Amino acid sequence: MLGVMSDFRSDTVTRPTPGMRAAMARAPVGDDVYGEDPSVNELESRAAAMLGFEAAVFASSGTQSNLIALLAQCERGDEAIVGQQWHTYRWEGGGMAVLGSIQPQPLEHAADATIPLDSIEAAIKPDDAHFARSRLIALENTTGGTVLPIDYLESVRQLAARRGLVTHLDGARLFNAATALVPQRASNARHAAREICSHFDTVSVCLSKGLGAPVGSLLLGSAETIRRARRWRKMLGGGMRQAGFLAGAGLYALDHHIDRLADDHRRAKTLAQGINQIGVLHDGALRAKAPQTNIVFVEIDPRIATGFDAWLRSKEIRVNTRSNYGGPAVQRWVTHLDLDDGDIERALSVIEGFFSA
Ligand SMILES: *Cc1c(COP(=O)(O)O)cnc(C)c1O
Repeated sequence: MLGVMSDFRSDTVTRPTPGMRAAMARAPVGDDVYGEDPSVNELESRAAAMLGFEAAVFASSGTQSNLIALLAQCERGDEAIVGQQWHTYRWEGGGMAVLGSIQPQPLEHAADATIPLDSIEAAIKPDDAHFARSRLIALENTTGGTVLPIDYLESVRQLAARRGLVTHLDGARLFNAATALVPQRASNARHAAREICSHFDTVSVCLSKGLGAPVGSLLLGSAETIRRARRWRKMLGGGMRQAGFLAGAGLYALDHHIDRLADDHRRAKTLAQGINQIGVLHDGALRAKAPQTNIVFVEIDPRIATGFDAWLRSKEIRVNTRSNYGGPAVQRWVTHLDLDDGDIERALSVIEGFFSA
């Protein structure tokens, strides 16, 4: 519990821990545009080895690493198949179209957040001068905190291989997805992450979300793809010089902040259960969806939504709320490194306080 304020808006709000700041200060640096920053080089090679790729490139943000993945693998006039709600399509300013002349083909999601295989299959265009060239399938994992099943990833990879397409994963929260697969699929999150990655040609991973680094994302792929991505990164203004200070934070995160994601997931469950207990006592005014990772969505009775939001704000609890087009308002509560068990307890007692006030 840092100060009084509990910020549940996103796992991007974390600040570097004292240990991470010390690692940043110690990090050896050089000019990364010359390929001479030892910390960036170490971060790229360690991440690639951990996740089973030939190479990696350090990018300034998740948006940038997704964009350079698409630019490195698609030509002008190619098409990328994406999810209607996914970041690469909906939340990145249309970058692939604006900067890559890549046509997005968005598809609707099923209730489990997957895109049905038959819709992917049906969206792939025949080789015909009328159509854009279907080139790439992009998935997102986790997506809204939901983990895509490994069997599904494998089926998409097989479909892509059969139809001659390449695959990209927006793995901004890859290690949250991996953590949710422990211990059923793998003995630890690193192994699970590697298994997820084995189904993709390229994967982007954010260091600045649950892993708690201040800045940075990695794109992983073959040596040849990463060489092309590096060129695009430079063109986009993402060639950073003594970036080793940031890579030092990333290295520290890989060493110290992967296993602890399980704590965030446990706290998200506690929060969701507590919210539901309070909701049941008050006519179902609050309904939390059981979280798979660190993101809890809560439906709020529209009659109390405005007051409830103001109450939380007045008690220094911050969440993201959106109105759901006339349906219940939905709040997103995200657990992370800067929130401990005390923040969860306090949030639940503040929520309870709203109903007894
Ligand atoms: C946050 C996020 C991104 C973008 O990362 P930035 O560093 O904010 O640009 C991409 N994809 C997903 C799924 C994300 O959650």
